[in-house]
Parts: sequence; structure tokens; C-alpha cells
Amino acid sequence: MTKEASKNIAKLLKESNYAVIVTGAGISTESGLPDFRSQGGLWDGRRPEEISHASKVGTDEFRDFFTKRLNDAAEHKPNAAHRLLADWEKKGLVQSILTQNIDGYHKAAGSKKVLELHGHLRYLTCNGCGRDYDVSKFTVEHSDACLDCEGTVRPNVTLFGEELPHLAWSEAIQEARKADLVIVLGTSLQVWPFNSLIDEAYQGGNAARIVIVTESETPYDGIASIRLHDKITAALQAVNEYLV
Ligand SMILES: [Zn+2]
Repeated sequence: MTKEASKNIAKLLKESNYAVIVTGAGISTESGLPDFRSQGGLWDGRRPEEISHASKVGTDEFRDFFTKRLNDAAEHKPNAAHRLLADWEKKGLVQSILTQNIDGYHKAAGSKKVLELHGHLRYLTCNGCGRDYDVSKFTVEHSDACLDCEGTVRPNVTLFGEELPHLAWSEAIQEARKADLVIVLGTSLQVWPFNSLIDEAYQGGNAARIVIVTESETPYDGIASIRLHDKITAALQAVNEYLV
């Protein structure tokens, strides 16, 4: 990454009135977290879309899949990029984070205004009565049976075949429309409707500038003011040099 690009991103951040960060799996793979949703990522030889599907809730393979996800998230930690974003929010440079990630690392790193659009793994919930359970229900007890009803205990994540949580989604659209700067980190922006947040921001009243830092190509590369293929932690650390 050139010094010029770091300097320019820092300048955009300082000049913006409402900076929104959009994150995907790429920011957390730099913590060592595997990305099962990425292209070619397989789980037991099968596509995660088949197992992480609403129709699979209550099956052993579904519970095993999320037990692995829960263990992975617990074994790894937020990295320098997560921490810098929390720091920039504290300094008033970043207004909110819209994330596809379910690992909870943004909140764990201290970010306050985080919309977790695909849910989180902090606890599990019965789909019958709504009772919450500690994640040990999966990881230690290997059970998804509710103690209070006939329902099934599942993670609070948006599965394939399910809609995004309505409240978080409408809040995310409001955030995108308020933005005059959007920095995309570690997502190839292939998943609809998540990627439509970029359209909302770009076509919104503040005609947000778009910065994209992610390894793979995205459908939005053409409208990006700055487009980097660098590692996210390295990129944000370089930008930070120009913020102090
Ligand atoms: Zn229940």
C-alpha cells in the first residue's frame, strides 16, 4: 500500500462528517478465524450454504457446524484492525460499523455502534419459547433441546433461507443514507441485500465516497474513490499513522 493511499484515506476520514465502516469475513480471517462462507470454503466436503440453512435447524450436522464456529470464535481474538476501528469511533472519526460477521469481534474490541446484520454467537436461543442459553449448550452439552418447551435451541444468526433481522436492517439503511464516507473492509460485496447498503450510501443525499480494502474483486470497484487489495490490519495501521 502506498503512503499516498494511506494519507488519502486518513484525509477522507478527517474530512467526513459521517463515516460508516462495512465489514465482512476478511477482517476476521486476519485473526485466524476460518471463513466457511468464502468461495471454495467447504465444511466436511459440503457447501456451508447447505448446512447453515434454516431447514437444517435441529439436525446433528447443524449443531456440529455451529459448535465448530463457536469454538473457532472463542479460540481467536479481535485483531489490530478491530481495535483501531474502536479507537477511531472513540475519537469521533467513525460513526458506525455495519457487519456481516457473527463473531462479535467488533463489540469485543470496544466498538459501540455496531449493527450485526447476520446476528452473533454470544448466546443461543430457543426457537419455541425464546429462552436464551449459554453457548455451552452446544459446545459442552452437545444438545439443542429446550428445557422449557418442545422447541429447538439455535444460534442467533441469520441462516441461509432466512431474512435479515428487520430492525437492524432498517437501521443499517439509515446509517448508509447518512454516510458521506463508507470504508468497506474484507467483503467481496457479493451477498444481496447486504451489498445494497453501498448503493444506498453512494446514491444517498451525501453521495458517500467509497473506499474498498479487500483482496478479491467486488462489483463496486468501479465506483470506489480508493481501492486497495492489501491486508486490512496493515492498511488501517498505515492510515492510523496519518491520524495522530
Ligand atoms: Zn423453549
